[in-house]
Amino acid sequence: MPEPICDLCGAPNPTWRYPGQDFIASIGGTPAGISEGDWHVCWQCHTLIDLGDRKALEIRCLDTYIMGHPESVMDTVWIMDAMRDIQRQFFENRTGKPVRIEVERASA
Ligand SMILES: [Zn+2]
Repeated sequence: MPEPICDLCGAPNPTWRYPGQDFIASIGGTPAGISEGDWHVCWQCHTLIDLGDRKALEIRCLDTYIMGHPESVMDTVWIMDAMRDIQRQFFENRTGKPVRIEVERASA
């Protein structure tokens, strides 16, 4: 099973779950797949959402993505547009208040 990641920025260990409805996600007006149910969000993104600072959220997501995919640094304009699209759809399809995810301890 893959490690859970933040649905907004891709960082590991999301700590918040945002209830959401299913919808057909699109990027740049092109359908990109079905988003099913809740979104998992890391504490940094959660903090920016809580502050209502969408500009900082966009920049954080772009930075995190580029750090994980340094080869895509030349595509930052396209990636930023895609991030904005994803975040807009996140805000449009949220259905309730975020819930703290219990930290699951790995059984060693
Ligand atoms: Zn995040």
